[in-house]
Amino acid sequence: MKADGSTGIANTAIELPVGKLQKTTAAVFLDRDGVLIEDRGYVSRVEDVVIFPWTARSLRMLYDSGYKLFVVTNQSGIGRGYYTVEDMERVNRHIEEVLSRDGVQFERVYFAPEAPDQPSRGRKPSPQFLFDARDEFGIDLKSSYMIGDKLTDLECGWNAGVARSILVRTGYGAEVEKACRERLRDALVVDDLYAAAEWILGRR
Ligand SMILES: [Mg+2]
Repeated sequence: MKADGSTGIANTAIELPVGKLQKTTAAVFLDRDGVLIEDRGYVSRVEDVVIFPWTARSLRMLYDSGYKLFVVTNQSGIGRGYYTVEDMERVNRHIEEVLSRDGVQFERVYFAPEAPDQPSRGRKPSPQFLFDARDEFGIDLKSSYMIGDKLTDLECGWNAGVARSILVRTGYGAEVEKACRERLRDALVVDDLYAAAEWILGRR
């Protein structure tokens, strides 16, 4: 192996950037409410946003290790008429702004604005947004992770074929852990986003 990780063998025959082709882009897909911020029920105002104290540090660890970060959030409060897309975008911008001070950047925030009874292209457990990220950003889903606090988050990851869906005990996670033990056989269950990040990076 060369220092850049390539074997150098293929380069002798054809001029291809072998190292680059072999490199896959892995991602961590994150639910928003209950994972990055406290789930206070239909959070629609910046004043109600409480970012967990470990969120920035956890995301920075993943980001520095080369994982692309995506938020995938169901925002049925929009479809239910509780708040508008603009309200949600204001909240998202605030979260992104605060986290960017710690060097964290999301590639994209995917949201499904529909209520559960409305037809939706991407509402979790649909894997559609993960497929979109695969197609647009070249994400290798098999080496990517989904982190959420509800069963639908985990199912979204499973439906997309990610390496692992991870349930955090923050938000609804602790309740889900109790209520859905059987369904969680294929999930990893950890205390919070920080524990999830450490696990992904092989530190526990
Ligand atoms: Mg949630």
